[in-house]
Amino acid sequence: MKNKIIAGNWKMNKNRAETESFFAELLPLVADTRNTVILCVPFTDLCKAVKSAQGTNIHIGAQNCHWKESGAFTGEIAPSMLVETGVEYVIVGHSERRTYFGETDATVLARTKAALNAGLKPIVCIGETLQERQSGKTEEVLKRQVTEGFADISAEELGRTVVAYEPVWAIGTGVTATDEQANDAIKYVRSVFAEKYGKAVADKLFILYGGSMNDGNAANLLAMSDVDGGLIGGASLVPQKFAAIVHSHR
Ligand code: PEP
Repeated sequence: MKNKIIAGNWKMNKNRAETESFFAELLPLVADTRNTVILCVPFTDLCKAVKSAQGTNIHIGAQNCHWKESGAFTGEIAPSMLVETGVEYVIVGHSERRTYFGETDATVLARTKAALNAGLKPIVCIGETLQERQSGKTEEVLKRQVTEGFADISAEELGRTVVAYEPVWAIGTGVTATDEQANDAIKYVRSVFAEKYGKAVADKLFILYGGSMNDGNAANLLAMSDVDGGLIGGASLVPQKFAAIVHSHR
């Protein structure tokens, strides 16, 4: 059985001092876990987070990267800049980026490819909106996001990639997908990957669930057969809550 990946997404929260105290509290709480623990923090907190996590079992991620290595892209960060900072992971295509910043499957693919080329491990987010689910389009949307968002990703590259299924209607809303909804959607996503890359590659792929996961619902979600971990927003801001999620799968 795979261990789980428990990844936190702080979004636009916490300054450097808060980052330092968060890690001081979290480290002893999760030191003995067998799960992989990742914290994706704002750009300005990365140096502090990397330093705090040095020599521990915690991995640090950013929340976005650009597809070019340098140039006239005001406000963007190149993958190599993240690598230089000691970052290992990067979230790509989060629904908030797709909704508020015009991210498309094509730009998600470009960012994923650039992250991989730089040696980062992308955490690529996919998921349907409430309207898409209610109109019976969940599988169609997920298939499109996988087909177009991973168009020229090789099997070797997919092996260095994590996928997060995050139904948009569950993110930050307090409405969690049921255990079965999460598992069914992830199983479907895995079958789409299997069509292209084969079953062995798809089975090895880590596909996380994200959307209002917390210390109360994590154990049941993580117990589902296809749920390989969680991407956690709000509940990753509090060390005790995040640690409880990490320990809800042993
Ligand atoms: C997220 O930001 O990826 C997320 C799942 O947020 P929340 O846990 O707050 O719903």
